[in-house]
Amino acid sequence: MKLGDSTGYQIIKYKRDYSEKLVIAGVEPYIKCGYRCFYCITDSQGKTRPVVDPASFRGLFREELSHFNDPKYLFGIGVATDAYSDIEGECGFTRIILEELAAGGHAVSVTTKSPLVTRDIDIFTRMPKDKHKVIISFTCSTSELAQRCEPQAPPPEARLAALHELHNAGVNACVLMAPWIPGLTDTARLLELFPKGIKVFFQPLELGDVFSETRDNERVHFSAALFMGREWTQNEINRAYINECNTVGKQYWKQFDMEWRWPITRETHADNSGYLKRMRPGRYDPDQWVAEHHIEPRLPVSAG
Ligand code: SF4
Repeated sequence: MKLGDSTGYQIIKYKRDYSEKLVIAGVEPYIKCGYRCFYCITDSQGKTRPVVDPASFRGLFREELSHFNDPKYLFGIGVATDAYSDIEGECGFTRIILEELAAGGHAVSVTTKSPLVTRDIDIFTRMPKDKHKVIISFTCSTSELAQRCEPQAPPPEARLAALHELHNAGVNACVLMAPWIPGLTDTARLLELFPKGIKVFFQPLELGDVFSETRDNERVHFSAALFMGREWTQNEINRAYINECNTVGKQYWKQFDMEWRWPITRETHADNSGYLKRMRPGRYDPDQWVAEHHIEPRLPVSAG
């Protein structure tokens, strides 16, 4: 196995301030993400590689962690690459990170599409409920649908089984329904399949940092038309998402602890506030909201 270059590499990649009391520290045990979802906007798709020699990993992470003692830090594993990548079973770096964070009493949030997360139930159940969150992400409910947008990721059916196993074991298991994709995300069916009462986060598809209407000529791996049937603009996606919140969100509101995050706009993207703003069913008129937060593409619409 080819190892990543450890020279100067940081496992705790960045700090993102959301408030005085909440700073997300992004932990990335691997370089690139082999799941290669078509909608991914992290630019991390590729052959997954470990960052350092496995023998050095624990010591390197411990040293980095010693600089993060303030309780304001929430360690987010799997923000830019999946926490349980396709080589985690072989390398075990995420397990090492969890062991170290649990031993230090740190707060941790893990996001993944992999059922391998159930391997670490023993660690999660040793952590207080308010110190850990295991988030399984879903875009759709069946392998058939997933073939259109995330064919190399573990199938939704396996994620669903993992979600129930975590929940039944007493783990603080949540769902991230993201990206929510109009015409593809079968929201009501998914909600029927989840354990009732859990936290469910929603976030709509983003067409990229610059919110261009389409960038197919620039990023060959990314084509909204490929998995959505036709080109959608960010404004159309945002409108459909708010409409879904008003209908399906309202229908299931009392059965789950839902967080419908605001669609990201240029303003909220710039200061991260979009991640903190929530929608409630019926609070926003979709047409009015989109008119007030209209996104003008920075790049011209491609012809192809
Ligand atoms: S699993 Fe996440 S990080 Fe990996 S390719 Fe898919 S969206 Fe990107």
